[in-house]
Amino acid sequence: MAVKRREKDLTFLEKLYIPEIVKGLTITFKEMLKPRYTMQYPEEKFVPPASYRGRPVLVQERNGVERCVACGLCARICPALAIEVQANETELEKERYPEKFEINMLRCIFCGFCEEVCPEEAIVMSKDYELVFTNREDGIYGKDKLLTPVDHLEDRLEFLRKFR
Ligand code: SF4
Ligand code: SF4
Repeated sequence: MAVKRREKDLTFLEKLYIPEIVKGLTITFKEMLKPRYTMQYPEEKFVPPASYRGRPVLVQERNGVERCVACGLCARICPALAIEVQANETELEKERYPEKFEINMLRCIFCGFCEEVCPEEAIVMSKDYELVFTNREDGIYGKDKLLTPVDHLEDRLEFLRKFR
């Protein structure tokens, strides 16, 4: 059976392709005049809003003590098994503190479950999204890297209280 070819007659202007070129250029110029959303990272840094979930950190009170009471709930809820807490007793009013608190940032999926479950508002998601390691050991953050002054976390804590 012979194949029937469908032929469409092009108009004179279509044959010149000029209307299509003009249409394309109009779109290009319109887009050029719209506001730009691209940031020149790392020279320009993105400052996330309070709702942002960056790496989890431990809240450090103004007197230098961590707020955490080493209950271990965050470690139990963590779906990535990224948290390790070792509790010990303290003379302070809270009675227990985390002698060791580590988060494996290579495992963490930034889900925020640890923050949600913590009864003390002691672990929160920060605005830090710049995580760089050159080996696996550096991805394990201990208290030295996790403790963050409460004054730096106020907006996140405020944001969380809206939903509690
Ligand atoms: S954010 Fe999620 S994955 Fe990361 S430590 Fe907390 S519970 Fe675990
Ligand atoms: S961070 Fe919160 S949930 Fe995790 S061990 Fe400390 S007090 Fe418990």
